[in-house]
Amino acid sequence: MLRIGCHLSSAKGYLAMAKQAVEIGADTFQFFTRNPRGAKAKKLDLEDVAAYLEFAKEHGIAKILAHAPYTLNVCAKDAALREFAYDTMCDDLSRLSHIPDAMYNFHPGSHVKQGVETGIGLIAAMLDKIQEQGYPTVILLETMAGKGSEMGRDFEELASIIGRVADAGRIGVCLDTCHVYDSGYDIAGRLDEVLGQFDAVIGLGRLKAIHLNDSMYGLASHKDRHEKIGKGKLGLEAFAAIVRHPKLKDLPFYLETPNDLAGYQEEIAMLRRLESEECAVEEIHDGSGWMGKEMG
Ligand code: FE
Ligand code: FE
Ligand code: ZN
Repeated sequence: MLRIGCHLSSAKGYLAMAKQAVEIGADTFQFFTRNPRGAKAKKLDLEDVAAYLEFAKEHGIAKILAHAPYTLNVCAKDAALREFAYDTMCDDLSRLSHIPDAMYNFHPGSHVKQGVETGIGLIAAMLDKIQEQGYPTVILLETMAGKGSEMGRDFEELASIIGRVADAGRIGVCLDTCHVYDSGYDIAGRLDEVLGQFDAVIGLGRLKAIHLNDSMYGLASHKDRHEKIGKGKLGLEAFAAIVRHPKLKDLPFYLETPNDLAGYQEEIAMLRRLESEECAVEEIHDGSGWMGKEMG
């Protein structure tokens, strides 16, 4: 069965997120480790963690994804900014060491006129420095849309970073469907070809998570504007193919679409139906495939 969830607010803690996930038909979720602007995180509540772990086991919640604040720039030119990213990520990872199967996702950053090569070196050096601390959590680099001087805009850049990390055993990749499309990979029209490229350049074994987002803008637009599933340029057929794909279907999927909880609940139900091939894409288009059944 599809493992799928969405981005949730972490304001009320782990147990609250897990309960919310169950309510909307999810069996995993993503959350920001702290305010995305990188403010100080609240003190870790170990009672909440213990209650979460019990609840998660009971309800089959697994592979939750912690997302680092997107304002961190691990390849910043300014050493103080890099130091801030290092401190923040170490603090996040030390907290996550209490959640055994959580993974930690971050944006590779922006090289801002330093050039791609310098960016690659700084990101790999940062990963080395972090990993020297011995955190157990798997760290994921997210594929990016390539806005401005954003790093991680193609598979080669990610492969170069991973190739330079001293111990890449716990380093993986989170593929964002909107971002790769925006960066020029036609994941809607040529899914097999794109996965083949990923495999040849990075290796599919590194692929640990998928961000499921439709895109407001077209192929290679480098815009990074997420759209609801089926309402953007990728379209519903693309997502049916993605969640059914034998090389992807066992990965955890996280929605980051512009939605409230009810919207996420509908998207999760729709994707579960598509994955189980209970209904054809056409039935979802005309509304007969799922709205009419369980959801009334
Ligand atoms: Fe992200
Ligand atoms: Fe994403
Ligand atoms: Zn995005």
